[in-house]
Amino acid sequence: MTGLICYCRQGFEPELAAELTERAALASLPGYAKAGRNDGYAVLVGEDGEALQRALSWRDLIFARQSLRMIAELRGLDPKDRITPMLEALGGGGRFGDLWVEHPDSDVAKPLAGLARSFGNALRPALRKRGLLTDKENLRLPRLHVVFVDGDHAFLASSVPGDSAPWPLGIPRLKLLPDAPSRSALKLEEALLSLLDAEERSALLKPGMTAADLGAAPGGWTWVLTRHHLRVTSVDNGPLRQHVMDTGLVEHLRADGFHWKPAQRLDWMVCDMVEQPRRVAERMATWFREGWCRHAIFNLKLPMKKRWDETRLCLDLFEEQSGKSLTVRAKQLYHDREEITVFATSR
Ligand code: SAM
Repeated sequence: MTGLICYCRQGFEPELAAELTERAALASLPGYAKAGRNDGYAVLVGEDGEALQRALSWRDLIFARQSLRMIAELRGLDPKDRITPMLEALGGGGRFGDLWVEHPDSDVAKPLAGLARSFGNALRPALRKRGLLTDKENLRLPRLHVVFVDGDHAFLASSVPGDSAPWPLGIPRLKLLPDAPSRSALKLEEALLSLLDAEERSALLKPGMTAADLGAAPGGWTWVLTRHHLRVTSVDNGPLRQHVMDTGLVEHLRADGFHWKPAQRLDWMVCDMVEQPRRVAERMATWFREGWCRHAIFNLKLPMKKRWDETRLCLDLFEEQSGKSLTVRAKQLYHDREEITVFATSR
């Protein structure tokens, strides 16, 4: 079996499967997606795994926390010796720069964390003995993933370090700092890590830049921006935490985020207002059409049903109505629940 295996938030397998199928079709690559309810992953079966991996880049996928090229699916593994069939499946071919033994982030697979850890310690030397794994991590070579979905059922897969999530399980381990005004701060931090690359982060987030934060209270996103030394206009009828105001970088406006506009062009606009996604997408488009900001990060809350359709519709509507040529990337982040986060920048 060739194709891709991608991880997602538990419960979003149908959205991930729909996205993979649609994107494979758009790339004119035959493939069909399979996903089980609450499995925390989906598989895209296709003829040419390498072409699918190239065409369906992790960065472009919205519902995939991680995207891996399948090497083999192994069922009925004997708990006494899971290594031999894996070495056989690898067939002596390929050399890997790292090994990650993982499991999907689902209720059923989470208890496999202990097995994944101990199995990694046993497999690593066996791979090295056969020259399949480098002694030290090498980011120029593909990474080998063993994905346990059950004690006797695993996938072997590979990823390209530059085009895959750089975190095991596709989950960045971010720590909520004690002075963060809200857990939401983690969403913006993760968005900056997942949706921008290192070069973009240093070019687009510079001290003295200006930003608006729509729906800012109690101030988590504003606080993240001030930590990058941006000057922020925070729009919300609710109060902001005093220590955020005390940075001296923040102006708080009690106004409606759907009507307020800046007096002059800002570098950034971020928006975490809980509202109908189409209404948010339209307002975000207005900001770009009118040239009120250069870059934006905003959330789109997803409905209960037809979530993939609504995602496509809102992103299409946003791009069309912005009237600009934009780079747009969207992801359901680890810290997102029933929502996705979008990064847009004028080209
Ligand atoms: N990003 C914030 C943080 O990190 O602390 C949390 C934002 S909270 C999820 C949503 C906020 O949007 C609420 O404080 C609410 O008052 C605000 N909001 C909702 N509709 C709004 C509107 N039309 N104008 C301004 N703020 C709005």
